[in-house]
Amino acid sequence: MKAEIAVIGGGPGGMSAALAASKSGAHVVLMDEYTRLGGQFFKRAASDFELATSQLSAEHRAGEELRKGIAASKVEVLSGTLVWAVFGKTLMLYREGRSFPLEAGAVVIAAGAYDRPVAFPGWTLPGVMSAGGAQTIARTQWVKPGSRILIAGAGPFVMPVAQQVLRTGAEIVAIVEATRPAEWLRYAGSLWGQWPRFREAFKYWQSLRQVPVLYGHKVMRAIGTGQVEAVEIAAVDNAWRALPGTLKRYEVDALAIAYGFLPNIEAADGCGCEMRWDPYGQTWFVRHDSDMGTSVPGVYAAGEITGIAGSAVAMEEGRIAGVSAAEFLGRIPTAEAERLRAPFMKSRRHLMRFADALSECFRPRPGLWEGLEDATTVCRCEEVTAGDVRSCVRAGCSTVKAIKDWTRAGMGPCQGRICRNLVAQLIAEEASTNIASIPRPRIRPPFKPVAFDAMAQSE
Ligand SMILES: Cc1cc2nc3c(=O)[nH]c(=O)nc-3n(C[C@H](O)[C@H](O)[C@H](O)COP(=O)(O)OP(=O)(O)OC[C@H]3O[C@@H](n4cnc5c(N)ncnc54)[C@H](O)[C@@H]3O)c2cc1C
Repeated sequence: MKAEIAVIGGGPGGMSAALAASKSGAHVVLMDEYTRLGGQFFKRAASDFELATSQLSAEHRAGEELRKGIAASKVEVLSGTLVWAVFGKTLMLYREGRSFPLEAGAVVIAAGAYDRPVAFPGWTLPGVMSAGGAQTIARTQWVKPGSRILIAGAGPFVMPVAQQVLRTGAEIVAIVEATRPAEWLRYAGSLWGQWPRFREAFKYWQSLRQVPVLYGHKVMRAIGTGQVEAVEIAAVDNAWRALPGTLKRYEVDALAIAYGFLPNIEAADGCGCEMRWDPYGQTWFVRHDSDMGTSVPGVYAAGEITGIAGSAVAMEEGRIAGVSAAEFLGRIPTAEAERLRAPFMKSRRHLMRFADALSECFRPRPGLWEGLEDATTVCRCEEVTAGDVRSCVRAGCSTVKAIKDWTRAGMGPCQGRICRNLVAQLIAEEASTNIASIPRPRIRPPFKPVAFDAMAQSE
């Protein structure tokens, strides 16, 4: 299969990129592993769950507009299609049990993000879930994540999650926010002019007025036999280190964790794109220029893989990347491409002021991963504990790759998506070194599980 422009990811960033690129007349193929376009923000209700119009989220309705735009365009959509490997500009696709290559002239990667995994005693108990997971079942299936749920995290993402969970009739026993409102004041200047965000926040605040919120607290442990039954939280200092004598216990049957997101950088890594360490996100993002070009000519990046900045930024970046990819192929002359990109760049700059302030204000702090008990699982696929990782570091391992070779951490079905950062944090703590100096492990295909026979019979 061939495409002039291949777009990986059908979220706000990818859909916007595909639309912008296809306006140039280029043949654009848009791929997403999910069966329905929308990504995280515009996630569509699952087809097997018939939701009434009143049950659909506002995002769902906004997403419908983008989906209609794609349907009315010449973009070729391959939904239910996983990009499981990338070699240069050749993508290996897995679709309906079959694996086949797609050769592209230019690639836009808009693979989005996933919830940052956080390890603490009891985090692998059934009933403990990512906030994104809780939101997804509430938003797309109208299913309660639990009857009594506690949401712990940092930043504004807890608000849409809590609102959607409440709408299903679940009780939220508490929202546990690690920062304190006094810290937010420093960033007030960056919020000037971001009126739609204020309106959004006000709406959430109104719908969550009845929910108890504990600021300056974090989750310490989940307790239960075969299922989470209680959660312990504690007050924290500015570095999110627990303050002695402040433990509180809540009886719950579900716990949702929302300490930020990590980018899906697998495809960009496969293309050979340079990454940058982000001290606020405490992770690696794809490095890009103002045209959303990566370090690899003809490969562009958009959305959360470039930095966690929300759906509005993802859409502007997608539009810029789509125009740039078409320009790269000579479908749009440079002067015209510059004219087309200008308003998207202006809007992106404005939105980024807000996004940068949020990233700094709600950045994860050392107390989130320091002092993990040795018995706590870090790699849940291969059942590797914090103690196992520490022993390896004491024996001389100083990289995530070395820990993987010794313990198999990162070799299970998630391919290290869950444990990669946790292992790096443990190495940094045990070796008293800066996490940014620990070499980033290369990501090996398949990015997600693919049937062996499909791989073997790849065209
Ligand atoms: C679980 C979750 C819930 C969120 N909910 C909200 C919310 O309620 N409000 C809010 O403001 N922000 C939310 N966000 C933030 C949100 O990610 C962004 O605002 C926005 O969706 C980013 O758009 P994007 O296009 O960069 O990525 P996404 O929307 O994440 O889209 C990326 C798409 O790429 C696809 N993909 C990734 N890798 C591959 C591959 N190898 N092969 C094929 N397809 C692939 C994914 O299936 C996904 O559909 C959420 C994030 C997450 C992770």
